[in-house]
Amino acid sequence: MKIVETIAELRRRLAEEPRSVGFVPTMGAFHEGHLSLMRTSKRENARTVASLFVNPTQFGPNEDYRKYPRDLTRDAGLADSAGVDFLFAPNVGEIYPRDTSKIVVPEVTARWEGAHRPGHFDGVATVVAKLLNIVQPARAYFGWKDLQQCVVIGRMVEDLNLPVQLAFQDTYRESDGLAMSSRNVYLTPQERAIAPTIYAELTRCGNALKAGSNASAELRTSIETLTAAGFYVDYFALVDLETLEPVADLSRPSALIVAARLGTTRLIDNLRL
Ligand code: AMP
Repeated sequence: MKIVETIAELRRRLAEEPRSVGFVPTMGAFHEGHLSLMRTSKRENARTVASLFVNPTQFGPNEDYRKYPRDLTRDAGLADSAGVDFLFAPNVGEIYPRDTSKIVVPEVTARWEGAHRPGHFDGVATVVAKLLNIVQPARAYFGWKDLQQCVVIGRMVEDLNLPVQLAFQDTYRESDGLAMSSRNVYLTPQERAIAPTIYAELTRCGNALKAGSNASAELRTSIETLTAAGFYVDYFALVDLETLEPVADLSRPSALIVAARLGTTRLIDNLRL
């Protein structure tokens, strides 16, 4: 595996051998969720590019941009073992040499993460568009862990007719159900012990809805359970999987989505129904 730091070098190396490219954008601090995206890309494409870029424009001013875990040596070893051919690890100046043009995706960004993290999806859409233009992959791989992000990127690719096929992969979890996340390292041992309650409530609520229970009552119960366990719940909602608008039943493809804070750590998770 080759670590590449500049756009010019990546383009040069990819042009040397123009075969189909699979692309896995990441912010590093790799766990099994990231590595399985890379392995899937490796299986389905002649070459795999992963990017490692902690994108400043998707963090709010009071968020964890500065303390986000960074360890290029460890990540490079893991990406290599997952079969990545090129790890694109640019510095901030390479991606943002000056104030940048922006991609703003409407509608599906209005609620949930978009409401709680103003500007977040402008940063995500813009950096993903730039990375897709830099790498020009046949396929790009994302995790359902960030469900709204999948919907936002799907919408951007459709709206802008970007010539890439998107693939979304199920969420990798720890054995107690906690969704793997680079941010789990922020949890204290006490918080880590409570954190699996999120997935426990997603599955409890999902099963109740499938059995025909009233959605607003079940959502209220989940919020109360998480609050009693020590979370501050930003949202716990049942949404239409395409529009992300709240829904009251399972008549269309839908998902339970949750964001909840434990101390200073904010966790998100979801369950598609
Ligand atoms: P990140 O480095 O957190 O920006 O994530 C990079 C990619 O990995 C995104 O497409 C995420 O949705 C995906 N991802 C993150 N956590 C998981 C997980 N637990 N299971 C599957 N994919 C994940």
